[in-house]
Amino acid sequence: MYQANPKRYQHMEYRRTGHSGLLLPALSFGLWHNFGEKTEFSQMQNLIYTAFDHGITHFDLANNYGPQPGAAETNFGRILHQDLKNYRDQLIISTKAGYEMWDGPYGNWGSRKSLLSSLDQSLHRMQLDYVDIFYHHRMDPQTPLEESMLALAQAVKSGKALYIGLSNYDGPTLQRATEILDDLHVPFIINQNRYNLLDRTVEKNELLATGSQLKKGLITFSPLAQGQLTNRYLDGIPQDSRIGNDPRFLNATMLTPQKLAAIQKLNTMATERGITLAEMALKWLLQKPEVTSVLVGSSKPDQIIDNIGVLALDNLTSAELDQIDQIIKP
Ligand code: NDP
Repeated sequence: MYQANPKRYQHMEYRRTGHSGLLLPALSFGLWHNFGEKTEFSQMQNLIYTAFDHGITHFDLANNYGPQPGAAETNFGRILHQDLKNYRDQLIISTKAGYEMWDGPYGNWGSRKSLLSSLDQSLHRMQLDYVDIFYHHRMDPQTPLEESMLALAQAVKSGKALYIGLSNYDGPTLQRATEILDDLHVPFIINQNRYNLLDRTVEKNELLATGSQLKKGLITFSPLAQGQLTNRYLDGIPQDSRIGNDPRFLNATMLTPQKLAAIQKLNTMATERGITLAEMALKWLLQKPEVTSVLVGSSKPDQIIDNIGVLALDNLTSAELDQIDQIIKP
């Protein structure tokens, strides 16, 4: 029977999510990979235990995480009920709807039908009465924004979600969505977007500036660019890596010679400072005032422990930030 580490809250930093009452750990844990059919159940348990034992209280899922779609929620639900049932009030569990999940016209995008059915399915798979944060997973250019936002409001009013988040939105759409959700008195508190050394989209599509001005939290996904900003691919492609065993979203062709050369230079820079490349990539995000939490994935418990090391490090200096940009040329 799992017993959580009694010292788990001593070293984690908890940050306020925008203007809300919710505190999130500086590092959150995502279940996009390594919680489907390919991973041993005991390994999934070890990943969740390691995260929680180090003060990571926030676990991020989506309806379609797998493979198969839904598998991550089902497996997480099993772990929760076997091992973490007594800790439910110490956990922040999020899920999302908006990418393709089931066949036919209602398993995708942002209609009221799709979002509310998907949330019910997620709760069923995880054996939960409510999630802490329910996200619309992406902007839907075909559905009126009011309809999607009303569905999110309904999720809160029905008690199936405590807070609302938006994922992969841009600044102007975020602004419009906020106006609708404010009118409906919905606790919309957080944006979830990709942001890392290699991908600065949120700086260009106004998400970063608008979210900050509206006092929303920001949780950044793929902070290590799916493992590219670590020591994983410095000497080839290991069989047990994401590219090696699950190349659905990251494959060898994406590791161009130019990108690899930049990663090698970043790694040299980090080594000279006495830190790992992963730590440097995470610190770069964590020291930004807009960032509430960085949402990391891991295939091994040791990676979680390594990544938590970032909390003890000094901020990167402005000279170091300049050096990074000279290498990457964003
Ligand atoms: P990361 O960029 O953190 O990549 C995680 C991968 O990096 C791991 O699987 C592992 O790769 C490698 N890694 C992690 N730590 C280390 C380390 N210390 N040393 C060496 N390698 C390391 O994040 P993800 O891309 O996994 O995304 C994180 C979460 O963000 C997802 O689980 C999901 O919750 C969320 N997300 C949200 C999206 C959205 O649209 N809202 C889209 C994508 C993700 P390896 O497997 O090779 O060991």
